[in-house]
Amino acid sequence: MSAPGIFTPPTPQNEPIKSYAPGTPERAELKARLKELEGERIRIPHVIGGKDVYSDETFEAVEPHHKSHVLADVSKAGPEQVQQAIDAARDAHGEWSSMPWHERAAIFLRAAELLAGPWRATLNAATMLNQSKTAHQAEIDAVCEMVDFWRYNAEFIVRIYSEQPYSPTGTWNRMEYRPLEGFVFAVSPFNFTCIGGNLSSSPALMGNTVVWKPASTAAFSAYFLMRVLQAAGLPDGVINLVYGSGSTVGNAALASPELAGIHFTGSTEVFNGMWETVGTNISSYRNYPRIVGETGGKDFILAHPSAEAEAVATAVVRGSFEYQGQKCSAASRLYVPSNIWPEVKERLVADVATIKMGDPSDFENFMGAVIDSSAFETHTNAIAEARSAGAEVLTGGSTDDSEGYFVQPTVITTEDKGFRLLRDELFGPIVTTYVYDEKRWDDTLRLVDDTAPYALTGAVFATDRSAIEEAHEALRYAAGNFYVNDKPTGAVVGQQPFGGSRASGTNDKAGSMWNLIRWVTPRTVKETFLSATDYRYPFLAPDGDGRVT
Ligand code: NAD
Repeated sequence: MSAPGIFTPPTPQNEPIKSYAPGTPERAELKARLKELEGERIRIPHVIGGKDVYSDETFEAVEPHHKSHVLADVSKAGPEQVQQAIDAARDAHGEWSSMPWHERAAIFLRAAELLAGPWRATLNAATMLNQSKTAHQAEIDAVCEMVDFWRYNAEFIVRIYSEQPYSPTGTWNRMEYRPLEGFVFAVSPFNFTCIGGNLSSSPALMGNTVVWKPASTAAFSAYFLMRVLQAAGLPDGVINLVYGSGSTVGNAALASPELAGIHFTGSTEVFNGMWETVGTNISSYRNYPRIVGETGGKDFILAHPSAEAEAVATAVVRGSFEYQGQKCSAASRLYVPSNIWPEVKERLVADVATIKMGDPSDFENFMGAVIDSSAFETHTNAIAEARSAGAEVLTGGSTDDSEGYFVQPTVITTEDKGFRLLRDELFGPIVTTYVYDEKRWDDTLRLVDDTAPYALTGAVFATDRSAIEEAHEALRYAAGNFYVNDKPTGAVVGQQPFGGSRASGTNDKAGSMWNLIRWVTPRTVKETFLSATDYRYPFLAPDGDGRVT
């Protein structure tokens, strides 16, 4: 029974970022939790229909910075478990989709408070250990951004539901924001714990039921996030979490006639493959699946001759190397004019030399390891390629996987403006620089726009206002998140809705009502208070004098 009232959820606030500075209580609590989680080796089940389901086949969740340390043995799904998850989602759909929206929202708002409070240290510790994030990087992802998604989405739902058509006297026109018919398949990447939480929970908030497959390299933190949702009272079967190989789980899910939507974040290549599969299967689906995907990037920092060199260098260090460059928004190509390059270069080299890299449990480290052996190989090969192509490795350039997958923060400079490392996404701590003639600003704007297929984030640095205006115009489609005199990373929910176009995705803007709107299929209802009782319109009546005019 629904409660009478038009309810307003609490006004969302961004969750404050804790400092973890020496002597703070959060630092002590986090260190203790890191030790506990590191000291055990757990078994991780799928969660299907609210039940823990263990598979015979498992894979190991390890620490990227200490690759022989196993955190958990994770259940690995086959097609039959994916089908169980689809069945559980179907069974839960009726009750969940007709639950009053404020009840659904209250569950996620409670999850936000659990995460901001008693679960904070656990999610941070799990993300640090499993994805090799520093305390700060884990905090802004697994806690603050996740909390922000849940708090803000509760407000966005009201904005969507409030969008109603005009009703002239005598009728009432209504829009009903029905959830999709079928299940939503949420597929998340390794690099942000909160992306997995948002991809699965934003369709659920709108009344959908979900099958969620996280990246295997982020299984450990996904497991704890699911526990938070269960503790918040999420009914069984609303989100069904299965781990396993992308193609095994993906092919089974995409083959289902009940597929109603895909909520994906990951590489362009995988997303393209899923879209092709949907195309092949299109006549077997009951509905046209909604396809939402945020994919790769080759994000730029472009400095104008009027830019402040220190600001540019700082933006590169933070924007390219935090979390080892494994952010879809990380700056990986840099365009600097010849007049300020000597100063930017000197500053970059000096700053990078002070960066400490290692186990994130040691809080002095600014960087951890890259996620796995395949990423390590990609970066090692890219650096070798730069050397053999005659590009200069300005700083960094060495890699070491004896203990964990460590890649030094690396700045490469090239004189070849079409060099592959200026075009292809590497997803690691490598930034490639092209120094342009300070008189060729206009050409450089075109170069930035044309070089890479992606259009996710980009930053322009200038003090000359007309240059900022020119960049705005010339780079209109080069980035979905565009920054002026700031690094291109660190989008905040409620402040900078996130996503890009071209090869970077469908640009449905995570952390905004534009994303949530993809998870509903509206029904328009027209009600007439006095129904017509005669089919004849007045114009059909004969003229009074019988003359034809
Ligand atoms: P990935 O594409 O390798 O994997 C993403 C997910 O897809 C994983 O869960 C994986 O198991 C799954 N997958 C793989 N093959 C599949 C298949 N055939 N069917 C279904 N699912 C399949 O990406 P990743 O390495 O985890 O993450 C890095 C990538 O994500 C980078 O390209 C990065 O730019 C991108 N990313 C983009 C954004 C954004 O908002 N645009 C945010 C974060 C990451």
